[in-house]
Amino acid sequence: MSKLYDVVIIGGGPAGLSAALYAGRARLSTLIIEKDKEGGQIVQTAEIENYPGGLEEESGPTLIDRMSGQADKFGAEKVLDTIEDMDLGGKEKILKGKKDTYRAKTVIIAAGASPVPIGCPGEKEFTGKGVSYCATCDAAFFEDFEVYVVGGGDSAVEEALYLTKFARKVTIIHRRDALRAAKSIQEKAFANEKIAFMWDSVVKELKGDGLLESMVVENVKTKELTEVKADEEDGTFGVFVFIGFKPQSAVFEGKVEMENGYIVTDADMKTNVEGVYAAGDIRVKSLRQVVTAAADGAIAAVQAGKYIEENE
Ligand SMILES: Cc1cc2nc3c(=O)[nH]c(=O)nc-3n(C[C@H](O)[C@H](O)[C@H](O)COP(=O)(O)OP(=O)(O)OC[C@H]3O[C@@H](n4cnc5c(N)ncnc54)[C@H](O)[C@@H]3O)c2cc1C
Repeated sequence: MSKLYDVVIIGGGPAGLSAALYAGRARLSTLIIEKDKEGGQIVQTAEIENYPGGLEEESGPTLIDRMSGQADKFGAEKVLDTIEDMDLGGKEKILKGKKDTYRAKTVIIAAGASPVPIGCPGEKEFTGKGVSYCATCDAAFFEDFEVYVVGGGDSAVEEALYLTKFARKVTIIHRRDALRAAKSIQEKAFANEKIAFMWDSVVKELKGDGLLESMVVENVKTKELTEVKADEEDGTFGVFVFIGFKPQSAVFEGKVEMENGYIVTDADMKTNVEGVYAAGDIRVKSLRQVVTAAADGAIAAVQAGKYIEENE
């Protein structure tokens, strides 16, 4: 029979790592189950300016390295597995992964969110062949090429700025006629000579032969379609999509209470199921950031500890 952990955390992003730090320091036996790369969404970004006390040149990976090291220091165990099903109703919670089954007295769901795709023909086919959701991961492939950024919020504009370090030209394609990003970020974008804008526009189709070679863009006001083609010498270009995120919560459907795909918690991160907590981007909240994810994780771990004390 597998080990019965005090706390099993689903997701190794900022919320999960912070929960592991707090649980570990409280001497609770703790396991983090992560399905992919440790660190979650934030490892995709090259610059974080808003994590309190962050380094002068803080990136997602540098911050996550330190968070992860802190969780290790206090004894958190880590495993690479994807949770696909679970039984949370009993005193002992059972989590079924692709590789193994895990037992826990308490569960902290910190499974976060993932990028929203454009949803147009060709997008899947050209993902990794021109289409990307991660500037930090893929910008270097577009050194001196043209790239397009789809979106107009903070992430889109920040990543467009980052891409200017590599690409020779970055065009932001936005469905409205004004950006939604914070004013300070907008100012940087408007001042950057490498950045151009395609307003009131949406991507309708991505095309090519092996590599992305052209894209059909629609003007939402005039309905005019334009085919944007790769420069002949380049043969291809990049499309970076930053139009939002959706919760990675399908597997928790019917297990805990949800609202629009996000898990409902109280201020103590308690879900409607005894001994089950949710933390970070996956829960209903007003600000999805590293600082709030870390705070949620800390609260959830402390509450998990209290629950164990009261129920033993
Ligand atoms: C490009 C970009 C730039 C950003 N910039 C900033 C910034 O400058 N400042 C800031 O504060 N925030 C920023 N954010 C937002 C920030 O990254 C998130 O708010 C934060 O990562 C949320 O943390 P989380 O732990 O809740 O979730 P996530 O980071 O999404 O981590 C969840 C983890 O759970 C794992 N997981 C999911 N389902 C399962 C499963 N079934 N089984 C096992 N594991 C699973 C995932 O693989 C993932 O690693 C940015 C996000 C992006 C994408």
